[in-house]
Amino acid sequence: MKNKLCLLVLVSFNIMANENFGIAVHGGAGVLSGLSSEQQKIIEQQVSKTLLSAYKILEQGGSSIDAVEFAVSEFEDSPLFNAGKGSVYNADEVQEMDASIMHGKDRSAGAVASVKRIKNPIKLARKISENTEHVFLVGDGAESFAELIGETIVDPSYFYSEKNLIRLRKQKNLVASETNIKDKIGTVGAVALDRMGNISAGTSTGGMTNKMSGRVGDSPIIGSGTWAQNNFCGVSSTGHGEFFIKYQVAKEVCTRMEYLGQSLEDASSKIIRELDDIGASGGLIAIDKFANVAMPFNTKGMIRGSLTNKSDINVKIY
Ligand code: ASP
Repeated sequence: MKNKLCLLVLVSFNIMANENFGIAVHGGAGVLSGLSSEQQKIIEQQVSKTLLSAYKILEQGGSSIDAVEFAVSEFEDSPLFNAGKGSVYNADEVQEMDASIMHGKDRSAGAVASVKRIKNPIKLARKISENTEHVFLVGDGAESFAELIGETIVDPSYFYSEKNLIRLRKQKNLVASETNIKDKIGTVGAVALDRMGNISAGTSTGGMTNKMSGRVGDSPIIGSGTWAQNNFCGVSSTGHGEFFIKYQVAKEVCTRMEYLGQSLEDASSKIIRELDDIGASGGLIAIDKFANVAMPFNTKGMIRGSLTNKSDINVKIY
């Protein structure tokens, strides 16, 4: 009888400990002052739609990694964001994409960089994590693996974007400033906590307009663009990738929580403030094991949204 009671207490404690769940997403930080109210509405609608569907996965007991992969791939399929279909061009007018995903339960992780024909780099990153002994595949090797496992390959023309070409030529001063496109499109990411208490994170990007051919940013780098560690946090970063690599931003949030005992909010906002002090622009989204969400940024805006079992849907740009 006493044993049964103990078991009951343990089981109910376990259920209670995992009762929180939720998801946060971002569509990049940057200068977004040129967005018309119509553009803002379209972006907010897309973010809300994705959040609600990803939340449903979690509500129905699905895993955080499924919710993260779903949310990021939805954004990759949209021309509104700098990832997948909407990827920006490098200096050679080529789109090279990077992505990574991590599961906080066992730190399993997968990443791809410099791929040109993968419809959903985040899905390939997950397959690398789950179906190979490796974490990170780049370029032709990553694309050969994608072919081998039947991942969707598209012709590079699928990613063609006149607007992104103008963005590039503008940056190279090849077009007159009247053709200026004022809005900036951003990298995408998601972090989630599921009912089993597992935290996952994922990030996907076309990188930075006018980047050198072969340049890889922080987004596919585990610890910089993406980090997930059960009991602490899941993080997806966006911003000037070189700084995010040097300051290991995504992992740094969890490290400060683990060793300094800081809250998610404190750890996240302090690191973004420190980056601002050294002229590094960007932001991040983060979730902890209680489904608290932090979304600090030091730029004018960051497309972001969250929905958890204890808070209403929240979608913002500025
Ligand atoms: N962090 C991305 C990169 O450096 C860019 C971005 O987030 O806007 O590739």
